[in-house]
Amino acid sequence: MTKYIFVTGGVTSSLGKGIIAASLAKLLQARGYSATIQKFDPYINVDPGTLNPYEHGECFVTDDGAETDLDLGHYERFLNTPTSQANNVTTGRVYQYVINKEREGAFLGKTVQVIPHITDEIKRRIRLLGNENKYDVVITELGGTVGDIESLPYIEAVRQLKWELGNENCIVIHLTLIPYLKAAKELKTKPTQHSVKMLSENGVHPDIIVCRTEEPLYNDLKKKIALFCNVRPEAVIEARDADTIYGVPIEMMLEKLDVISLKLLEMPLGNEPDLSKWKEFLTKLRYPKSKITVGLIGKYVELQDAYKSILESLIHAGAVNECKVEVRNIHSEYLTPENAAEKLQNLDAVLVAPGFGSRGIEGKIDAIRYARENNIPFFGICLGMQCAAVEFARNILGLKDAHSTEMNPDTANPVIHLMDEQKDIQHKGGTMRLGTYDCELAQGSRLSGIYGKHLIQERHRHRYEFNNNYLEAFEQAGMLPAGKNPSTGLVEVIELKDHPFFVGTQFHPEYKSTVETPHPLFVAFVKAAKAHQEHKKEEATFEKNLSHG
Ligand code: GLN
Repeated sequence: MTKYIFVTGGVTSSLGKGIIAASLAKLLQARGYSATIQKFDPYINVDPGTLNPYEHGECFVTDDGAETDLDLGHYERFLNTPTSQANNVTTGRVYQYVINKEREGAFLGKTVQVIPHITDEIKRRIRLLGNENKYDVVITELGGTVGDIESLPYIEAVRQLKWELGNENCIVIHLTLIPYLKAAKELKTKPTQHSVKMLSENGVHPDIIVCRTEEPLYNDLKKKIALFCNVRPEAVIEARDADTIYGVPIEMMLEKLDVISLKLLEMPLGNEPDLSKWKEFLTKLRYPKSKITVGLIGKYVELQDAYKSILESLIHAGAVNECKVEVRNIHSEYLTPENAAEKLQNLDAVLVAPGFGSRGIEGKIDAIRYARENNIPFFGICLGMQCAAVEFARNILGLKDAHSTEMNPDTANPVIHLMDEQKDIQHKGGTMRLGTYDCELAQGSRLSGIYGKHLIQERHRHRYEFNNNYLEAFEQAGMLPAGKNPSTGLVEVIELKDHPFFVGTQFHPEYKSTVETPHPLFVAFVKAAKAHQEHKKEEATFEKNLSHG
């Protein structure tokens, strides 16, 4: 029978419930159990697809085309297994389902209420993943903080489920903050006591308390938390601030979070966790042999979470190359042809980010031109690829007004235009080209070499596409369609022939990079950046020698 673990948060948000959930799942997986993680978000949006990245960070896309919370990206990166729509549920989705059922007449004669109808639907969705019998353990992360009004139905659903399934089949981990008061030089447990009390008032008593802390929790303090919060002493776990999120599974292993969880769930401990591959990755990450600087050109660069998967993919690829990847954020709105050289000349590579709308678009195009003309490795993702097509059309093909119809619907040269199936769509939510599609890579293309195969699957999230009316002109001028959708002929990849590394992808490779399977395209990009750096050094030495000679 599938066992259930719930992760709740107390005291403040942003304590890293997603990372704790992913770390525990990783440890269980390393002991030979199959585990998956699910996120419940208490907001009314049906999914985060229509949310501004400033609000909610990146929108993560799954194979089946669900637009989800960025924590699902962490789950995939840690577990190396794909998630799906079932792994992310919002209050909006729960209510939408219940209300649709009510309209169909499924509750005829009854008053539809939060309890039992909404809580029943929450429970159904929790158990959906377990019902398939695919997993030994389903870990469900409840978004928000205990005490929020909007979290109440979820806490109630957990209470009922614990009652229905029994404490040995269903446990609750409460992640909380132990603040350190500098002036008093003391760690404080009171906020944790209050938050556990609040949870208990709602009928749910935590089985394990994970304490985020800047300072080590000494044993007496752990005992005090255990006593006042009524959990076993070994169920108080220290989660100290880590240098990297990828160090957290090891920290949790040392704190025996997996052992206490399995004991409470009355499951055998299984093998000692085998984390050798994970540790190898961590060593490479922590002790790099070289360093490169990549410019990330985007319009949401102030908020790191907006490009989460790209940043993590660069970390994975850096570790493979035993190279630290420093990311320099460059706001595309402030980039101009005049300052492009100053902002970009010291970079080892340029990555132009995905995005929507026209703000900052010209800066992206200027950056691409600079990278193309100066042989700087360039990688454009989704909108980044579309901007590369616009730049090429304007500056090489001489089509001065070339644009995407997203930015200029009246352009005479729409090198990027709306996909046919998008033309009649009025609704914004969940209506893009979403999820995994096949892509056939051209023989002899750079990308087929990088992937080491011809048929690849990558995830999409866009409305616009390359306009095939311009394909021949592009090809003749040296911009190759290196990857196409085999059934529709849509161009999914462009690459420049005479350039050390110039690749634009309509798909989002960043959604598929994991610790155990770093994405080949990011690995190749970092490698190209290293080569560019070497080349610059050689040139500088050569020039120095010349001037000395
Ligand atoms: N705005 C572009 C489109 O809809 C690109 C989307 C993206 O970068 N994800 O096609």
